Formats: sequence, C-alpha cells, structure tokens
Amino acid sequence: MNIKAQKGTKDILPEEIENWHFIQKAAEEVFTKANFKEIRTPIFEDTSLFERGVGDTTDIVNKEMYTFEKSDRSLTLRPENTAGVVRAYIEHNMFRQSPPLKLWYFGPMFRYERPQAGRQRQFHQVGVEMIGIQDASADAECIKLAVDFLKSVGLNDLLVEINSLGCSECRKEYKEGLKQAIKPFLNDLCEDCKSRFEKNPLRILDCKNESCNKLFEENNLKEKVSGIKLCPECAQHYTKLKEYLDILNIKYKENTFLVRGLDYYTKTVFEIKSNNLGAQNAVCGGGRYDGLVELLGGQSTPAIGWAMGVERLNSLIPQIEEKKLDYFVVSDNQPEAIKLTSKLREHGFSAEFDYNTRKFTKQLEKASKSASYAIILGEDEINNNYLTLKDLNTSEQKKLKFEDLIK
Ligand SMILES: [Zn+2]
Ligand SMILES: [Zn+2]
Repeated sequence: MNIKAQKGTKDILPEEIENWHFIQKAAEEVFTKANFKEIRTPIFEDTSLFERGVGDTTDIVNKEMYTFEKSDRSLTLRPENTAGVVRAYIEHNMFRQSPPLKLWYFGPMFRYERPQAGRQRQFHQVGVEMIGIQDASADAECIKLAVDFLKSVGLNDLLVEINSLGCSECRKEYKEGLKQAIKPFLNDLCEDCKSRFEKNPLRILDCKNESCNKLFEENNLKEKVSGIKLCPECAQHYTKLKEYLDILNIKYKENTFLVRGLDYYTKTVFEIKSNNLGAQNAVCGGGRYDGLVELLGGQSTPAIGWAMGVERLNSLIPQIEEKKLDYFVVSDNQPEAIKLTSKLREHGFSAEFDYNTRKFTKQLEKASKSASYAIILGEDEINNNYLTLKDLNTSEQKKLKFEDLIK
C-alpha cells in the first residue's frame, strides 16, 4: 500500500522552502524592529480553551476542530493561535510585566475544512498579539505592522478595511436591529444562521453560505443595518484610530459589513486585501479582543492582534530560486576534496564535493547546476599546492592559492 500525505495537507519540498524562509525572515525582521517577541505555544491544547476562547457559535469550534481523547482528556489541535497565546499570557503571569506585551508567532494550525485552492487542513499562520493597551494607538500600531510586513514581502497594492464593533453595550441595540432586519427571511437562511440568530446574530453577516449571502444582498441588509451605533467611548476610540491611520499615511476604507468570524472581537476589526496577481485577496484579518483575557480566566485586559495565512501570502509572491552553493570542489582525489570542502565551510562558505568521484566533465556539469564557482583540484593542483577556480557563469578560469581564495 502506498501511503500518501493526508487530504488537505502538503509537503513543503526543498525547492519551495526558500519562499518560506523568506517570509519567516521578513516577519522576524519587521516584528523585531517594533519590539515584538516571538512566542511558540504547543500545537495541541485543552479543547475547552478553544470552545471558550474562539466561541461555540463559530464554524471553527462547531465543525472544524481536530479533537481527540487521550487519558480521559479532550485535546484539540489548535485551529488558531490567539487563544493559546492568551492562555500562556495568563499561565506565566505575563501581566506582571509593564504593558504592553507584544508577541508574534509563526506555525501550523489545523481546521477540518473542505480543501480548496489556497485552503488546507494543516495550514500556517503568522500573527501578532499586543496585550495590555486600551488606547487606539495600539490598534494603529498593529495595522501598521501588518502593512509593513506585507510590504516587506513585496505586496504593495494593499487595501485596509476597518470597522468598529463597539463594546457589548453598544452592540445590544445593533443586535436587535439586525435581528429585526433578518427576521422576515430567517426561515430561508441556512441551519447555522438560524442557530446563530439568538446566540450571536452578528455572525450571520459572516456566513460563508452562498444562498445566505444572496439573501443579504437582495434584502439590502447592509443598508438596513447601517453600522453599529457606538457609545461615546467606542466612538472616540474609532475616531482616534482613524486619526492615527491618517498620521501613518495608511489609506483605509470603512466597511460596516466587516464583522470577522470570531466571537471575541470588540471595537476595532480590520482586514487587509492585496491586489497582487490581479485578483483581490484578503491576506490579513484582525481586531481588538478586550474581553478574551478575562474570558479565559485572567484579569480584564485589553488586547489586539491579527493573523495571516502563510500559504495565501506565499501564493501571491513569486517563487524564489534556490540559492546556489559558493563552491563545488571538482576532484578525483576524495581525501583532498573532502578536506578542502570542510575547510571552505569553516571559513564561512557553502561548499560541496562529488561523493561518487565521477569523471571531471560529470562533476563540472553538477557544479554548474548547483554552485557559482567550481574549484578544480586535479593532480597538478595537489602536487603544486594551488587551486583552479572556474567561474561557472563566465567559464573564466584562474589559478590561485587557498589563502587568496578565502580573501
Ligand atoms: Zn461601546
Ligand atoms: Zn447562513
């Protein structure tokens, strides 16, 4: 029997890895400059962390989690990483540090979804969380960081969409208005939407079901529910955010339809779309989640963050060619070849030799595919203590000593 990679999972092969390194390095550079520190939390957690932290009216928790039992415990492969980061924040008393706590992560997440282009069951996310700051400057910083990161991987044609969901106070009236508007055609909505109607009507606007979306359009739901009436505090926060974005020269569009899929968002939510490669793609989603730390057992703490799908990002940037070796040692003398190769590596170069001691022509062929320079180490070179360096681009050759080479 041929065992293959599971549906919705993918091997990342050596010829693709340059892109992954590139994205990871860009993340590290951009985030470090803003004093965000990397955190690596476990891939599986107590199932209730996600039930509480992501919300039991979400598709993620209801349908998409990889949950399994082990020693009478219910465990779940993380479907996202905000809940895990907040769990770690509470568990390690990180609230004792003076705020904000600024964290970033990069790693695999797991959701049991129907695989389609750009959507896998094991996928990767890069994200940031900024915990402890109430002021809208934190929201602006997070959005700016996302924009900087996207630019650093070469995505320039970006559209930032923002909205404010307000606090639970200002959402009360909105929820009622939304329910009023939806009620007439509630029976035509999908089963999920029906069950969301009482528990979390906001999520209805986020339904992935096409027939639901059609109904929303036909009934002008967008116009009927013209955004959430924000309480004075939330309104001021939103105004301040927009002022900060102006200061930072970040162009944005207000989208009152933007509610995001997770239950825990409060006030600011945002999405960033990229126009790279023609089609418009959402590449980043995030928002403020002032209630989550408390919901997971910590003290009431404001926080904001975002996440991006790395596979999606990767599909929008050109394939980076594999890096060539600095040197390939061409020789029929194995001991000398292995010695010279390791000496080159000790001096900081990348180098390889031919393990099979094939003919020089074969070795040179391999060298021109994998390296910038060949170092020919034949009998004459060994006897007279020099090397022949061949530029594999121009085919130019010259003789020199090892000491001159490493200079
Ligand atoms: Zn409010
Ligand atoms: Zn629906």
